[in-house]
Amino acid sequence: MSSPSQPYRGRLAPSPTGYLHLGHARTFWIAQERARVRGGVIILRNEDLDATRFRLDFVDAMLTDLRWVGLSWAEGPDVGGPHAPYNQQARRPLYRAALARLHAAELIFPCTRSRRDVIEAAGAPHEGPDGIADEPVYPAAFRPAEGTPLPPLGDPITTNWRFRVPDGEELRFTDGACGEQRAISGRDFGDFLVWRKDDVPSYQLACVVDDAAMGITEVVRGADLIRSTFRQLLLYRALGLPSPAFYHCPLMNDEKGERLAKRHDALSLRTLRERGVTPESIIRQFNHG
Ligand code: GLU
Repeated sequence: MSSPSQPYRGRLAPSPTGYLHLGHARTFWIAQERARVRGGVIILRNEDLDATRFRLDFVDAMLTDLRWVGLSWAEGPDVGGPHAPYNQQARRPLYRAALARLHAAELIFPCTRSRRDVIEAAGAPHEGPDGIADEPVYPAAFRPAEGTPLPPLGDPITTNWRFRVPDGEELRFTDGACGEQRAISGRDFGDFLVWRKDDVPSYQLACVVDDAAMGITEVVRGADLIRSTFRQLLLYRALGLPSPAFYHCPLMNDEKGERLAKRHDALSLRTLRERGVTPESIIRQFNHG
């Protein structure tokens, strides 16, 4: 864990795969407030690795909409900073170096199973205790036997690589918002992707490498990522990196009780602005919970 005496560094890490909505804004507002009361800074990282859903116009929209609602950042793709670049696509060498370390330590394995194989063997997508859908637990029977020599990673990478999670280890962390969290690796979640066969680093790996490299002391994000935090804690440990503190914000639902998603155009910041909603009224709403 990072030491409490370090200056606070938080981050906003949106993905430009759609228009940001009120739920994103609320989480980012909380992140900004937590930094502000601690006299810390917020950085913005553009998580643009998902080339299939990524659109350049969403990057501009993201920056514009976040500024419109009153968010600001000390470092980011548009303002630069000591940890540049702040676009994940430009940071691939760092992820690749981390992958090479996991490979050298034999903590990963190549996986030729399709998503369908995994779903068929593991059953329906796994749901956490909070009802948040998670990926199915990777069946242990699909793992290569321990000690099987690893093929080289290759360049470009054309196989999925997964992190081998310890069997039955209880992992814990204390979340700043949600309290004590526990999960058992291999039971609550299984071997997860660190690199995809289309040569793209996974979110889990990129996020850990960046949060560590950018000196983030507290990660504030949506509660849908609590399960990911356990995976990330295993990566911090495997890479010998200090882990930040975590603060997972409750997710926002619409009036029908459905979780807000990027397809929810009605509550996108864009639409709200076009309808004449002011940032002040949005922030007032956040401040009143
Ligand atoms: N980029 C991720 C998303 O938009 C968030 C990652 C994070 O905050 O760790 O869902």
